[in-house]
Order: sequence, then structure tokens, then C-alpha cells
Amino acid sequence: MSDSMTEVAKRILSDLMDFRRTPKSSELCAASDCPVCASLHMPKVVSSVRKGRPVTFVLPSFPGKSPNREKVLGTLPDYAEQLSLQFLGRLCGKVREYYSPGIKIVLCSDGRVFSDVVGMQENHITAYQNELERLIRELKLSDISTFNLDEIYDDLSFVQKRDELMKTYGHSLDFLKQKIRNGSSPSAEPDEQEANRMYCGITRFLFEDMVFPGQTKSRSALQKESRSRAYEVIRRSNAWSELIAERFPEAVRLSIHPQTCGSKKLGIRLVADESWMTPWHGVAVETKAGYVLLKRSEAEALEARLIYSSRGRPSHYKLDSKQEAGAYGV
Ligand SMILES: [Zn+2]
Repeated sequence: MSDSMTEVAKRILSDLMDFRRTPKSSELCAASDCPVCASLHMPKVVSSVRKGRPVTFVLPSFPGKSPNREKVLGTLPDYAEQLSLQFLGRLCGKVREYYSPGIKIVLCSDGRVFSDVVGMQENHITAYQNELERLIRELKLSDISTFNLDEIYDDLSFVQKRDELMKTYGHSLDFLKQKIRNGSSPSAEPDEQEANRMYCGITRFLFEDMVFPGQTKSRSALQKESRSRAYEVIRRSNAWSELIAERFPEAVRLSIHPQTCGSKKLGIRLVADESWMTPWHGVAVETKAGYVLLKRSEAEALEARLIYSSRGRPSHYKLDSKQEAGAYGV
């Protein structure tokens, strides 16, 4: 293989890695050219480049809006999703400038995989998926596509599809609990550390989603429930990951979660310099310095102005300059 192909592959990976999410603890790895992380993903990138084919990246993401209205504006994709799609689209466009086959990003929407565990309605997920696909077409993002559980196991109900997924790809709860426990040790393997961090992050998301005005359960009861639901969300997500890996064997695996150095996944940002926030757990807020993602309640506390889309739906918030002096430093 000629050196120029290796150089192209390196450049593609480095362009992606410019927008990595890494845990705060791994500053050494945060550079876009961390050789440990790059070397894990290079073979797939090189292989596609050598064949002159687009390099495919798969990203489990865009499950549907959080059911917590303190965080989001509604059940459909809004300007926060649009910003993410445009961000990913720019990344694809950047690669196309020097590698004409380009890259493909497949958004593997995972809402259907764990909707029953996180309290999302099936019809909301369907509507979210449809609107996301419409948005991708409207924005003419031909390098971005979606893949979801609805496309496989024809003729089965959503419940049966999830059962089938878990029967084929699921691991036991004990196996997962052990991995998460191991992950709290500093000498743990990267995937154990990631499992532990994911568990903590998802437990927090689930807990936040259940703390709303009128909630009658105690905080400790909610914490307990969040932990057991987090295990199930992760079991489902892991099964979904295995299905995706089988379906897209040549693809580089991206993640919306920060990844430890040497992880098999590459953590990637979706809008700006956010660490854990996602478009489906928050709202887009326009500031003088650009857009940021905040919880809806945070945007409202800043008295940001609600902006409607041309379709008449709540779209995002805008901070006027006097509000920008607010406590969020945005
Ligand atoms: Zn690294």
C-alpha cells in the first residue's frame, strides 16, 4: 500500500478525533493524534481507503427526546438535533475535500432498544425517527443515514424485536455487574472503565428524569430504581452494539460517551464542547459565542427567549447580551 493512502487514512481519523469526547482524567489522550487510540481504528480506515470506498462510522445515538420536559422542548427533533446533523455533515464535507469517496455516518437510533426501560412512548420514538430522517433529507446530508431496530426482525412487534435482540446478543446481568464493579479500579481494562462510567452517567440521567414536580417517591427510592434501570439500559445497549458490529463489520465505532484511552469506541461530540450533554437531553441555546446545549430549565432560568421554527414548533432559545452575563459563563 502506498504511503499516500496511509496519510489519507490518518488524516480522516485525525479529523474525526479533533472532536473527541474524552474523560476529564485523560488529558494525555485528548489530542487528536493520540497514537494509542488511533492505532486501534486505523486498520478499518486504511482498509476502506485502500479499496477506494467510503469509510463508514456507526454511532448509536438519537434515541428520541428525554421524557423529562424540564430538559427538552417536546418529543420531536428540534434545533438541537439540527445543529448536530449539520455538525456531522460538515465533518463529512471536510473529508470529501481530500478523499472523494468520503465518509458515511450511520446513526443507529437506539430508542426502540430501551424505550420501555426509560419510559419513552413507542409512538414518540416512531415520530422522532421519521422527523430525523426528514431533517437529514431536508438538509441534504447524503453522507448521513439512520439504522434502527424497526428495520430488522420483520413482522415482529416492538416487544418481540427487543426479546429477539436480547436472546441473540444479550449478556447476563451478573456479567455486566461484575464488569462495572471491576471498572471502578484504576487498573481496570478500558472497556471496564467505560462500563463503570456509562453506568454512573446513565444512572444520573435516569434519576434526573424521575425528579420532576409532583414526584411522590423518595430520593433514595428513585436512586435505587435508577440503578436497576441503568443496568438494563446498558445490557440492551450492549446487545444493540453487538448487532451493529455484526451488521457493519467494516465500520469504525463511534460513541456519544467519553471514552478511555485505548477504547474500541471513539467518543465524539455532537454540537460544541459538551461533555455529557446531548441534543435529546437538552435544548439548543444561541449565545454570542455560538450555540450551546443546556437543560430547558436552565435556559428558562436564564430567561432566554424561546424561538419557534418555520413549522411553528418550539425550536431553541436565544440569550440576549444582558442575559449572557449569567452564571453559566456562556
Ligand atoms: Zn488515547
